Amino acid sequence: MMRIRLNLECPKCGGSLFLEEDSNRVSVICGRCGLRVSWKLRDAARRALRNIDGSLLFDWNSVIDELYLELAVNTQ
Ligand SMILES: [Zn+2]
Repeated sequence: MMRIRLNLECPKCGGSLFLEEDSNRVSVICGRCGLRVSWKLRDAARRALRNIDGSLLFDWNSVIDELYLELAVNTQ
């Protein structure tokens, strides 16, 4: 499993957010309060793959942005 600290704060508690990826899902998780959103990796790939000059690139930044927005909505 991959776990990366993001340069983002939890919209609920201000704690550090982490990106986690395992064999079938990708999640953004708060290390303090446990707030979490997950996507199946297949769905993340469908949203994040970009065709740039004929090369398929995985755009992690857009996945992180969308997961973060979903997290923020979940705190409302
Ligand atoms: Zn939190």
